[in-house]
Amino acid sequence: MLARSDWGDHGPRPVFARHLPAAAASAFGSRRRRFRKIELAIDLSEDVFSLRWWRGFGTLTALTVATALLAPPFEPLPGGHPAPVGEAEEAQFVAAGVGPLVEGSNAGMAMAPTSAVETLASAPERPRVELFARVGPGENIGRMLVRIGARYGDAGQVQALLAGTPVAAGTSVSITLGHKDGGVRSVERVALRAGLDAEVAVVASPAGLKLERQAIAVDESPLRIRGRVGDGLYWSLRAAGVAPDAARDYLKALSGQLDLGSDIAPNDRFDLVIAHRRAATGESEAGALLYAGLDRASGSNIQLVKWTVGGSSQWYDGAGTGRSVSGMIWPVSAPITSGFGERWHPILHFMRMHKGIDFGAHFGTPIVAAADGSVERAGWSGGYGEQVRLAHAGGIETSYSHMSRMVVAPGSAVRQGQLIGYSGSSGLSTGPHLHYEVMRGGQAINPMSVRFISHSAIDGPSLAAFKARVAALLGVGRG
Ligand SMILES: [Zn+2]
Repeated sequence: MLARSDWGDHGPRPVFARHLPAAAASAFGSRRRRFRKIELAIDLSEDVFSLRWWRGFGTLTALTVATALLAPPFEPLPGGHPAPVGEAEEAQFVAAGVGPLVEGSNAGMAMAPTSAVETLASAPERPRVELFARVGPGENIGRMLVRIGARYGDAGQVQALLAGTPVAAGTSVSITLGHKDGGVRSVERVALRAGLDAEVAVVASPAGLKLERQAIAVDESPLRIRGRVGDGLYWSLRAAGVAPDAARDYLKALSGQLDLGSDIAPNDRFDLVIAHRRAATGESEAGALLYAGLDRASGSNIQLVKWTVGGSSQWYDGAGTGRSVSGMIWPVSAPITSGFGERWHPILHFMRMHKGIDFGAHFGTPIVAAADGSVERAGWSGGYGEQVRLAHAGGIETSYSHMSRMVVAPGSAVRQGQLIGYSGSSGLSTGPHLHYEVMRGGQAINPMSVRFISHSAIDGPSLAAFKARVAALLGVGRG
């Protein structure tokens, strides 16, 4: 390719070059005009319908026609003639062939009998029918047997024999029916699964139908599931095979210990022990969450075990400390007028330990339970007047005094925030207020401090049992 400055050596720019791009024009000197005319390979995408384009097009057409004229003749290879197929044979081909129904295939059509076939006078009866049936919704075993053609009396007997076995709709039942008589068949055997650990069968014997029960061995060792938290704890649990209920319980247990939104990192590892029952026949049944652990990449590990104290189940950590009672709420919406500690008693006129907090609540202000618990006492209590006393987990008690009216009865359970009565001035009191006390192990403690530091805890002999349980659960799936 010539540089642009070379134009000076070849005189004025040729006229034809005006229609060409500068780069193309630079390729043609006056001495090269001859070669341009015999240019054969022309790009037909450039300068469409120009004179040069038509020449290129003409060359292409001429070459194509020449190729077609000069090509040697091709003829089909010689082959045999197809055998003629009759109408009957064609029907047989269609019947034997397997094709899509939408194209009219009738595969499986019965073949026409040949002359070798002899017809029977009567078809033989099947002496016994074995089948599986499912109990329909709102149906019992007896009705199901009648539905599939069992003798009415036998069906009633089977139903009576299985009366003690709960049969859910959808249960699959294995049935053997005997000889046919008057359009219905006798019952020979009806067998079904009664729960995970047993199979029951009603079997015909010379003495009539009788019930047989066969126990199935069940392995009750719990299941341990561990894995990485990853992008989302719930979905990682589900992907690891944890049932929705157990996953929800696990998150709930952890939420008492840390902030699920910010305290869990993708590299933390979850560790669950779930009650599990496996039958020898292969079926399994997942149960409740027994242990909730989180091995954290940074920060202390969490180990929680479900334990029941005084009738209420709660999650405790490995050392036997339960949920923090910092979740306690104030029992009344009113200002604190007197704190916890030594003070001059306004009526008795001497220094006296004030074992609770006074709230300056107007007469009739609703009072609620500070935490979940049970009503220990609700009635008159000397200087305390009308008093409600609640027992909470971990040996914590709360009392609410000088009430005008109580709305709970001893022995009943209360939830945190539930209305227990209304403020008043009953007992030794100078005016309407709520005297609120918190006790741990029978000793009054400062309600201000209990809000932040107190935990319910397992102590005494049950602590040893609890520790043994933790060790057993942590041993699941290890050796
Ligand atoms: Zn008081």
